[in-house]
Amino acid sequence: MRLILLGPPGAGKGTQAKRLMDEHGIPQLSTGDMLRAAVKAETEIGLTAKDIMARGDLVPDDVVVAIVEDRIGNPDCSNGFILDGFPRTVAQAESLETMLRAHGLDLDAVVQLEVDEEALAQRIQRRAAESGEAVREDDTVEALHNRLMVYREQTAPLIEHYKDTGHLVTVDGMQPIDGVTASILAVLQKAKSGQLHAAG
Ligand code: AMP
Repeated sequence: MRLILLGPPGAGKGTQAKRLMDEHGIPQLSTGDMLRAAVKAETEIGLTAKDIMARGDLVPDDVVVAIVEDRIGNPDCSNGFILDGFPRTVAQAESLETMLRAHGLDLDAVVQLEVDEEALAQRIQRRAAESGEAVREDDTVEALHNRLMVYREQTAPLIEHYKDTGHLVTVDGMQPIDGVTASILAVLQKAKSGQLHAAG
């Protein structure tokens, strides 16, 4: 099962990816987590990414594409993976397609978590307020505002892109967490039985 979770920051991609990982026994590939690890370890990539991430801008395509290419070649990805936070631009999506095609692979589905962005902003700010400090360096009001703008400008075009490729399915991300998981699992069941592409 090769899956992409698509949605704005705070939509619950990470939470759902972890649940699906447990359910399907395939790894969650979060480029955000990988980049945060690189920042912490002060690698060359980390040093490039640090300030960009703190602002809520996107790390250059070639950097994240190289990270993903390296990661999906690992043996634990041979049965599939859940991409969380990648691709974030149409260029990244095209690189992913080339990468998968080179291995004779395809995506099973792109699950868009549809959410009310206003409610999301409040959710993230509440999370930061309750913890007494920002949980992540980019969970500040300014960075969040920028992350949402970057999402709208650079990532939301992927919705049309994956509609065109026939991979897109939309799930109501405003349901309780269990409801979102159940909806995604139902979609994946359909994808497995081939009904997804048949239905367009
Ligand atoms: P996330 O944890 O997915 O919200 O990602 C946190 C930050 O890492 C983003 O705001 C970007 O700065 C960077 N990042 C993560 N994934 C990507 C990606 N696919 N392309 C570019 N930048 C990314």
